[in-house]
Amino acid sequence: MIMSTISPPRIGTLPALVTTFLSATFILSLWSCGKEQGPDPQLTAYVDTVAAVDAHAHPLAWVASGQPADTDFDALPLDGLPPFDLPVGLRPDNASFRSAQKALYHLETTDTGSVYAAALDSARSAVMAQHGAGFPSWALDRAHIRLMLANRIAMGPGLPPQRFAWIPFADALMYPLDTSAEAERTPDTQALYPLEARLLARYLGELGLSRIPATLDAYERDVVGPTLKKQKEAGAAGIKFEAAYLRSLDFAPADPRAAAAIYARYASGGTPTHEEYTTLENHLFRVIARDAGALGLTAQIHVTEGFGSYYSERGSSPLLLESAFDDPELRGTNFVITHGGWPRVRETLTLLGKPNVYADISMMDLLAEPRALVEALRLWLGEWPEKVLFGTDAFDGGAAEGWEQVAWVASRDARRALAVALDGMVRDGEITPARAREIARMVLRENALKAYHLTLP
Ligand SMILES: [Zn+2]
Repeated sequence: MIMSTISPPRIGTLPALVTTFLSATFILSLWSCGKEQGPDPQLTAYVDTVAAVDAHAHPLAWVASGQPADTDFDALPLDGLPPFDLPVGLRPDNASFRSAQKALYHLETTDTGSVYAAALDSARSAVMAQHGAGFPSWALDRAHIRLMLANRIAMGPGLPPQRFAWIPFADALMYPLDTSAEAERTPDTQALYPLEARLLARYLGELGLSRIPATLDAYERDVVGPTLKKQKEAGAAGIKFEAAYLRSLDFAPADPRAAAAIYARYASGGTPTHEEYTTLENHLFRVIARDAGALGLTAQIHVTEGFGSYYSERGSSPLLLESAFDDPELRGTNFVITHGGWPRVRETLTLLGKPNVYADISMMDLLAEPRALVEALRLWLGEWPEKVLFGTDAFDGGAAEGWEQVAWVASRDARRALAVALDGMVRDGEITPARAREIARMVLRENALKAYHLTLP
């Protein structure tokens, strides 16, 4: 193995990894079709020079050897679910991850199986040891990401605010009462609801509370508000809802008096019916989103086709969010349709005209067939170029699919698709080459800064 001797690229300059990342010949071979040419190499190179803001990811904190593993990287880690299948883009044997390992760890071997796994483990461990707590920032440099929005229960060592902005999880605040009946819905939800109960207990503990208050008014005043405020003060840029794993995204308007009565009935014990809990959740979703917006926190909502074998596809349609998006009291809250609502990108398109609604391509750039990603980008950028955000959804799948590798692959593939989409728009006379470069900057960083009220540290 050869360890990296290349120093990380400087922010905002043409990175050293341009050549490994997006060689013009590779683009040509990947995208040429019949008589068509690949995208303009100058535009391709430009897209790769933009130091990105990654709007959604799950980086791991730095853990010194011998210390317990990081468990704060997701409120709903899916490893407790019954086994489920992954689409091609996420399978550990996908060739993309091998490309990332070659680029990041200079693994030139053609070995396979356990020999390769051992070589990878050793090369990766050596790089981690070399960079120590600087490893997460090194990983961002390799993927040419200037700032990563980190979906985590809490931040941790190695994730400095100059490079990582915090996005904590909000769903637990929607579930103050006993969720045992809700959890019975599917084998997946049986594993997930207890995690929300544990997170709410952690939030209560951080406020010095051992139990929920007796009334909904007091719960909103003494738990919801202060939790969001503490998160904002700790540097949060937004909050994340993973509700589609638990229930339908149809957060219909709820009568606050009915919600208060349900809360009061079960605050000290007992299990609400599904209808009762749905009313309370619908009410609390809007309270949380409204309070978050008042604090300048943007709300991310997981909207895509998975994961888990009992995940409700019908319940995760982007259009189900329309009634919440159209609540005049929530117009002060920016919403991001995380994962772009993939594959229902046309539904997402219909929502982007609302003033406070954005979409990011995190996970889409890993899941979608490359041409489909290009098509989705053209569809959106042709109408709402100021509403589309880059993202990776970098998550950790162990040494063979580490979060740093997922970030590298998603960044490469998103830039490729963006270059092809913008080049197509130039060729079709929709935009000028200068506007194409401007839109590239918007998608890769400026739209995210606007949607999350951020300035780069
Ligand atoms: Zn995610």
